[in-house]
Amino acid sequence: MSPAQLSALVRDIPGFPTPEVVFKDITPVLADAAALRAAVELIAAPFRSAGVTTVAGIEARGFVLAPPVALELGAGFVPLRKQGKLPYHTRRDEYELEYGTDVLEIHEDAAGPDDRVLLVDDVIATGGTAGAAVRLIRGLGAELVGVAVLIELAFLNGRDSLDDVDLHAVVTYA
Ligand code: AMP
Repeated sequence: MSPAQLSALVRDIPGFPTPEVVFKDITPVLADAAALRAAVELIAAPFRSAGVTTVAGIEARGFVLAPPVALELGAGFVPLRKQGKLPYHTRRDEYELEYGTDVLEIHEDAAGPDDRVLLVDDVIATGGTAGAAVRLIRGLGAELVGVAVLIELAFLNGRDSLDDVDLHAVVTYA
């Protein structure tokens, strides 16, 4: 299945969760066996020879895609979560939203200097969330191999804030 076929399955939900957002609903992709397999393979494809030891996924939809990508790459999985959700010792990063700030956390032993980490999420929009995740992963001393997403909303210019990162998107909306 091609990226264009995957794109055709992504459902636009105008006004969710707030009036100004057009939400990219990936549940039809996840529900279709061929599409789910293609999405996982296409996210992993550029990084097959990158020596990835660890795939990091961002709560919540990153948790759905990152573990099968980790299996594809023969890597482990670690979670990045919103504030107060992780049980062990954490590092935190506070990042800007359009209105206010948000916090992302990672376990302090999730990765280290021997690890080569691929960050996976469903959507990159402004890049604020991925930027915080990148800082947390690098802050643990790990090597960030790249960021892989199913969908890039290119008109929000998230790529610009990740200019020293190898960012790969399966489907890009201009
Ligand atoms: P951002 O920090 O602006 O790049 O937003 C990225 C995070 O918010 C990701 O974890 C996405 O799951 C979610 N997100 C942002 N915008 C959308 C959208 N239009 N549709 C679906 N998810 C979105």
